This record gives sequence, structure tokens and C-alpha cells, in this order.
Amino acid sequence: MSEDLVTFLEARLDEEAALARGCDGDGCGRWSAHGHTVDFCQVELAGFHPTIALHVALHDPARVLREVEAKRRILARHALSPAVGDPELPWDDRDDCQFDGDLWPCDDLLDLASPYSDHPDFPRSA
Ligand SMILES: [Zn+2]
Repeated sequence: MSEDLVTFLEARLDEEAALARGCDGDGCGRWSAHGHTVDFCQVELAGFHPTIALHVALHDPARVLREVEAKRRILARHALSPAVGDPELPWDDRDDCQFDGDLWPCDDLLDLASPYSDHPDFPRSA
């Protein structure tokens, strides 16, 4: 798991953004829940348990797009600082995170990836 993790995360974020945009995430109003009904702006669907309706509405495409952009910024900050060519050598002869200096991939990247651990392409090897 190294650059594979970044490639994997970028692919997941691209998928989520494309799906949200496919739901008119750039121009639709805000999804909302009203009891057993979710208002998807273009249509209302009823029959949800109220808690599930709230959960579905929470995944409003515009909100998902904002979340994807926030995760992309986190991903960009926690980029690899390779040991090879590092001017700080010989202090730490290891690949580390340019943001926090932790061994790379750092805990923040691993946390970003953790929701996708059940994805078939999830990088398994270190
Ligand atoms: Zn980091």
C-alpha cells in the first residue's frame, strides 16, 4: 500500500463525484426528509423508516460533492515525501507524509481509505 492507496482513493472520489453529479448534484435543490418521505427535489419517495429517510437525505448530491472536494484537499496535503532525494536525509531514511512527517501512508490517509475497506480493489499489501 503506497501510491496504490492514493490511486485507489482518487478513483473512489471520482466515482462518488460522478454519481453525485449524475443525480444533478450541481444544480438540484437540497434533499430533505419529511417523516417517511424523502424529497429528492425532482421527485418524492415515501415508505422509508423516518431514520432511513433522514439518512438518505443526508447524502444530498451537493453535500457529497462538498465532501469529495474536502477529501481531495486532505489527500493533496498528505502527499508522499519520498526518502530518495529528501534533503533532510539522513534524519529519517524513510518515505513519509509531507504534511505531518509520519510514516507514509500516514494515519490520515489510512483513515480516508478505511470506509472503502470492503471494496474489491482496496490495496491490501503494505
Ligand atoms: Zn499525513
